[in-house]
Amino acid sequence: MPNVDLPSPSSIAPARAASSELPLSVIGADLVVPLVTGEQVPYVNLDYAASAPCLRAVHETVTSLLPWYSSVHRGAGFASVVMTDAYDAARGIVAAHVGAGPDDTVVFTRNTTDALNLLAAALPEDTTIVTFASEHHANLLPWRRKRLVQLPVPVSKEDALARAEEALRSLTSRHKLLAVAGASNVTGEIWPVAELAALAHRYGARIAVDAAQLAPHRAVDMAALGADYLALSGHKLYAPFGAGALVGRGDWLDAAAPYLAGGGAVRRVTLDATEWASGFARHEAGTPNAVGVVALAAACRELAAAGLHALEAHEATLHRRMTRGLEALPDIEVLSMWGPSSARVGIVTFVAHGWHPSKLAAALSAEHGVGVRDGTFCAHPLVACLATRTRGSDAPVGAVRASFGAGSTEADVDRFVHAMTELLTRGASWRYRAAGGRYVPDPDPRVRPRLYAGAPPGGLVSGPGFSSAEPCRSLA
Ligand code: PMP
Repeated sequence: MPNVDLPSPSSIAPARAASSELPLSVIGADLVVPLVTGEQVPYVNLDYAASAPCLRAVHETVTSLLPWYSSVHRGAGFASVVMTDAYDAARGIVAAHVGAGPDDTVVFTRNTTDALNLLAAALPEDTTIVTFASEHHANLLPWRRKRLVQLPVPVSKEDALARAEEALRSLTSRHKLLAVAGASNVTGEIWPVAELAALAHRYGARIAVDAAQLAPHRAVDMAALGADYLALSGHKLYAPFGAGALVGRGDWLDAAAPYLAGGGAVRRVTLDATEWASGFARHEAGTPNAVGVVALAAACRELAAAGLHALEAHEATLHRRMTRGLEALPDIEVLSMWGPSSARVGIVTFVAHGWHPSKLAAALSAEHGVGVRDGTFCAHPLVACLATRTRGSDAPVGAVRASFGAGSTEADVDRFVHAMTELLTRGASWRYRAAGGRYVPDPDPRVRPRLYAGAPPGGLVSGPGFSSAEPCRSLA
C-alpha cells in the first residue's frame, strides 16, 4: 500500500484517544505581518468564524494525497484506486463525526450555502419553512424562494421555542421544515437545537441545522440532537480546500431533481432518456472536489483526536479572557440576543462607541497586526435588530467580530486586548480614509507578498477587472 496516512472510517469510530494537544497546530501560526509603521509583528488571527486556518494535520494529509491526485471512481490506474478509497472513506468519516444515522445521506457540496441551497431545491413542492430573522443569509435567502414563515429575532431561548411552536402548530402544508443555526455567526450563541428538533417532530416537521459555526467548536451528534439535516463548511472546520456537506435524510433528496445535471449523477443515458442515480451521487454531478473532501475528513479526524470537549473548554477560557478584557474598556457593548449567560462558541462581536467598526478593524490590523472582521456578517436583519434593541432605531448598524478556535492562544487574546486598550485610550495613530464603504489606511505602505510566479512586486491586487479600491464584501 502507498505510504499515505489517509483517513479511514474505522479510525474515527470509536474516536481515537486524544493525541493532539490544544491549541492545535495550524498553518500560519508563525505568520509575520507588516504594520503601517514598517514594523513586522506576529499575526494574530481572530477571524476564525469567517474562515479558520488550515490544521497542520489537514495540510499533511493533503500533501501526502497530492502525488496520488487523479480521477475518482472510474479511473483504473493505481493512483485512481488510492484516490477513490480516500474519497469514499471520507464520506463515512464525516457521517460518523456528526453522528449521522445509517440511513442518512452525505452529499458533498462546496460549502454551507451550497448545502442549504441544495436542500431548498430538494424540498417537496408543498413545504413551508419556518426560520428566524437572526439567521445567516445562507439559512434565510434560499427559503425565501419557497413558502416561508420568518419569525422575529427571539429575545430568549424560551421565546425561540414558543415562537417556533406557535408557527409550527399553525402550518397546514403537508411538509414542514424548521431551519435554524446551531450557533449564531454574530453573537456565537448556541441555539437550543435538541428542544427545537423535539418541537418540530411533535408537529410533523423536520429540522435542518446550519452547523457552519457549531461544528468547528462543539461535538455535533445529529442522532442525539434529533437533526434531520445538517450543513457545514470545510473552510470553517480547518480544511480550507473548498468542500462542505449536507448530511441528512435521503427520501426528499432521492425524490428531488438532481441539483446539477451531468456525469456521475446518472445510472444510464440513452438518446432520449435519462435514468438518474439515487443517494449522494444524484446531487454530486461532475468531477468532485476530492482533495477538499479528504481534507474535510482529515479535519474531522483531527478534531475528534484532540477531543471536542477539550476544545470547548479551551475556547471557554479564551472567551472569558477576551470578554473580561473588553469589559474593562470604556464604551464597549458586546452583542447578544439572549444575555451574557447564554452559552456561546468562540465569537465575541462588539460595538466600540465613538468608533466606526471598519475604522477600528482597520486600525487593529494596520497598527497592531490583529485580524478581525467588521460589518454586518451576512446577517443584516440580526445586526440591525440588535442595534435597534440596545441603541434605538437610528443607531448605526455594524460591529467588530473577534473569533477564535483550536489554534488560538491566550497570548492572541492578550495582544488583541492590548491593541484595543491602546486604540480606545490613545486613539488611532495613523490616518484612515473611507473607500467603498470601508476604512483603509492612508497611505497603506504594507507590501503584499508575491504569490504568483511572475507577479509584479507587491502582489497582484490590480489589473483588468479588479480594483484594490473595490469594497471587500464580507461573506462571513
Ligand atoms: N451559516 C453561518 C452561521 C455562517 O457563519 C456562514 C459563513 N459565515 C454560513 C452559513 C455560510 O457559509 P459558507 O460561506 O461557507 O457557505
